[in-house]
Amino acid sequence: DPKAEWLKKDRTYLWHHISPHNDNPIIFVSGEGAWLTDADGNRYFDGMSGLWCVNVGHGREEIAQAAAKQMTTLAYTPLTQSHVPAIELAAKINDWLDGEYRIFFSNSGSDANEVAFKIARQYHRQNGKLGKHKFISRYRAYHGNSMGALGATGQAQRKLKYEPLGIGFSHVPPPYCYRCPFGQQADSCRLECAQAFEDAIIGEGADSVAAVIMEPVITGGGMIVPPDSYLPRIRSICDKYDVLLIMDEVICGFGRSGQRFGHLNYGVRPDIVTMAKGMTSAYSPLSATAVSAELYACFKIPGGDNHFRHVNTFGGNPVSCAVALENINILEREELVSRSAQIGTQLQTLLSPLREHPNVGDIRFFGSAVGIELVDDPISKTPARSDRVAGIIAACFSKGLLIGKNGDTVPGFMNILTLCPPFITTDDELDYIASVLSEVFFGISEEDAS
Ligand code: PMP
Repeated sequence: DPKAEWLKKDRTYLWHHISPHNDNPIIFVSGEGAWLTDADGNRYFDGMSGLWCVNVGHGREEIAQAAAKQMTTLAYTPLTQSHVPAIELAAKINDWLDGEYRIFFSNSGSDANEVAFKIARQYHRQNGKLGKHKFISRYRAYHGNSMGALGATGQAQRKLKYEPLGIGFSHVPPPYCYRCPFGQQADSCRLECAQAFEDAIIGEGADSVAAVIMEPVITGGGMIVPPDSYLPRIRSICDKYDVLLIMDEVICGFGRSGQRFGHLNYGVRPDIVTMAKGMTSAYSPLSATAVSAELYACFKIPGGDNHFRHVNTFGGNPVSCAVALENINILEREELVSRSAQIGTQLQTLLSPLREHPNVGDIRFFGSAVGIELVDDPISKTPARSDRVAGIIAACFSKGLLIGKNGDTVPGFMNILTLCPPFITTDDELDYIASVLSEVFFGISEEDAS
């Protein structure tokens, strides 16, 4: 029985991510479209697109061919010189962004954010503003696993065991309308959450603040979607204090939000945009830090030491770039960005009956990303007990639907179910997702009901 053998080796040798003590992992062996198959032949709908990344679905032959062709043409050369896939991809990313950007390639979302932090600090130094070194982000945000990116992360439990982290990071409350940190309701809201950035910049000393980093919506921290005027307000606060705006599009970029990039939904232009996951749909590790042309100009002043001293051996390797180009071709050819928007609209209708369930406090959407906030009681909004959350996820798994849980790592606050299906998900598959969730929440299947 190969599975028993694999499990034995897994338990002996492998250190899993996120849940290292998972002694009974599902061993996946293949994937096609939105579906994964495990070692026992069970099929699962990949409702999280892996970790918010396999947006064009599994098993894409075109991507495999693009990778193989590039491997035999030119597998590797560093970006100290240049190569065609990186040139073409940098140009393509510029087409997808609104504005002119220079593209620096790395391997992971964390890498891309570290690059953004270093560029922000060097930019200010080169402009003679030597003190501007701090970064402000939000509680609940996740920006990566390395010392700087974890410093920017606003979830204490992810950080405590590893401190001291990169220094100079502070946090403000998130735009969490369902549990407004400022006690406001929609009609009394004065965007106190945006104002908190201005207060933090003044409190820290504007001469010491280099940049603000944020996702367009906080995804992993619980699908926290801001009011429409929030991002434009942040942009104008940043402008007022010469603070750069770094937009972390690692999850929201490349169509998840229903537009090419999440910030385009809000009409703001960031100074720096970081991207990863959906850029290759996870077929190969690759990330990018897009830097506005105005910023980049400061790294080209003749004379003096303007070099950005940062090398990344594998960053922007030809194979990953070729994979990204083919992935973006697929997104364009199959019009998957608008399909992502449409999936979101369809899910809004299909999932609305869940709002009647007493354990569903709120359902939030950003394009085709969905958060279902679970509570024990809809009036007090007490977050759902962790065994209730785990029970719902396990019931979905047992019916073949893989969904995720997110929120805050503080015990008891991982109470938001998340769903972000691949963009190739069909209408029938959306019905399937809705019927599994309805069965799990209400205990009846659609067939039983009819
Ligand atoms: N930023 C955001 C918003 C993320 O969700 C993640 C990963 N989940 C990262 C950065 C870090 O990306 P990576 O895991 O590729 O380092």
